[in-house]
Amino acid sequence: MIADPHFQQAKVADDAPQFDFDNSYARELGGFYVSWQPVPPPAPSLVRLNRELADELGLDADVLAAPQGLAVLSGAVVPAQAQPLAQAYAGHQFGGFSPQLGDGRALLLGELIDRHGRRRDIAFKGSGRTPFSRGGDGKAALGPVLREYLIGEAMHGFSIPTTRALAAVATGETVQRETPLPGALLVRVASSHLRVGTFQFFAARDDEAALRRLADYAIARHDPQLAHSDQPYLELLRAVVERQAALIARWMGVGFIHGVMNTDNMTISGETIDYGPCAFIETYDPRTVFSSIDHQGRYAYGNQPGIAQWNLTRFAETLLPLLHTDNERAVAMATEVLQTFAPCFSARHLSVMRDKLGLDEGGDAEADQALAADYLGLLHEHRVDFTLGFRRLLDAASGDEAPLRALFAGNGEPLSAWLLRWHARSAAQPLPADVRRRTMARANPAYIPRNHQVEAALAAAVNDDDLAPFERLLAVLQRPFDERAEDDAFAQPAAPEQTACYRTFCGT
Ligand code: AMP
Ligand code: MG
Repeated sequence: MIADPHFQQAKVADDAPQFDFDNSYARELGGFYVSWQPVPPPAPSLVRLNRELADELGLDADVLAAPQGLAVLSGAVVPAQAQPLAQAYAGHQFGGFSPQLGDGRALLLGELIDRHGRRRDIAFKGSGRTPFSRGGDGKAALGPVLREYLIGEAMHGFSIPTTRALAAVATGETVQRETPLPGALLVRVASSHLRVGTFQFFAARDDEAALRRLADYAIARHDPQLAHSDQPYLELLRAVVERQAALIARWMGVGFIHGVMNTDNMTISGETIDYGPCAFIETYDPRTVFSSIDHQGRYAYGNQPGIAQWNLTRFAETLLPLLHTDNERAVAMATEVLQTFAPCFSARHLSVMRDKLGLDEGGDAEADQALAADYLGLLHEHRVDFTLGFRRLLDAASGDEAPLRALFAGNGEPLSAWLLRWHARSAAQPLPADVRRRTMARANPAYIPRNHQVEAALAAAVNDDDLAPFERLLAVLQRPFDERAEDDAFAQPAAPEQTACYRTFCGT
């Protein structure tokens, strides 16, 4: 358990908008956090409010956009029912274990039950120093905040589980990074902020009672049906393995590279979290790395399934004392579940690839896997843009191969051979043409957050106070599957020399 020496009474404002917070984490997990207050920013202004998400949360977007709403979204005023707190967690960062990380610049404000009955965390990122800040300033810069907003909404547009931004707020102060930058704060919504690293924090302290409370809480929150199973903690491990296998398969399907898959950035809920140096692959190469700090390529595109399994193994280790009093028995049980990751991922990935290729689920798995792998091999060999390489298969499915062939400039032979196999496989399936087209259209986005477009949008916002490019890109990414002539520029890759040296930086 961690001590709570810094408790401060929340500042309550009578005229703040009402939030029906129901704070289960604060209530049930005393000792897992430090009650703390956001630092009021000097001159907050609303940069972007996610009205659709506000509505889903049962909040009134107009009230949020008004001055008293902004006061809450900026952390200047804490509403009556909020119990802001900094969560404790640990984590393996690039393979090395840090026993104490925690919310160093984030706070959980409270939990809401949304319109669909789902419990959602409302949290700040960039709300000032906490007892977990170590050497950091507890702040965030506008560029990374808008980046997290944009990529999160893009993932949501793809229907990939993700945390989302409710608002981006400029703080009116300057944060010092390599250069001085405008400061900002993100209001983040998550189905919880439980991480593999949360379990590691208590496992590292050999605190079995705390682990059990945490696991029980996780089960109640994410897998309530497991509470009465014979082996609830083993089943929790299985559920997390399955969710992460499904999630990573979805990432791979849209070319997403998380960039910093440390165990503190892996959720128990199965949502994508912490968009730092992430980016989408363009010219297809599984070794692609964009992050400036990933020197070894640990978190390269093609390594993500293996890293997920490595992280899940760290998660399983934390659960061992709960699985069995005999450690050897516990290890055997955990190992059996961890071994399901690979087949589970393969099955999910095959399903993603079948949708991308417009193939039914009933075909021969090995043959379909080979067909998909060979197509990826072609994209790699001919340095084809991943997104366009799949999107143009839609035209080919309708009989027009020219746009696809244009991507393979001058190298038609291997593609022709593959297309013959694909057409033969497609002809042998029961999927009606329109169903097939719709499946392919929904599995192969026309628009992804292309690196040069993201950079241009953030640069305009940060350097010129111009949010128009950000808004435009966001609008495009909210409807990524229907191709629109007026948005063609957003479907096109940057010049290869621009992408080849593209680097992303941690949002710190
Ligand atoms: P991240 O790289 O954002 O996943 O953060 C890793 C750890 O560093 C977490 O414990 C964060 O709270 C902490 N951290 C990152 N940036 C800052 C900052 N500017 N101030 C304080 N802590 C930070
Ligand atoms: Mg993190």
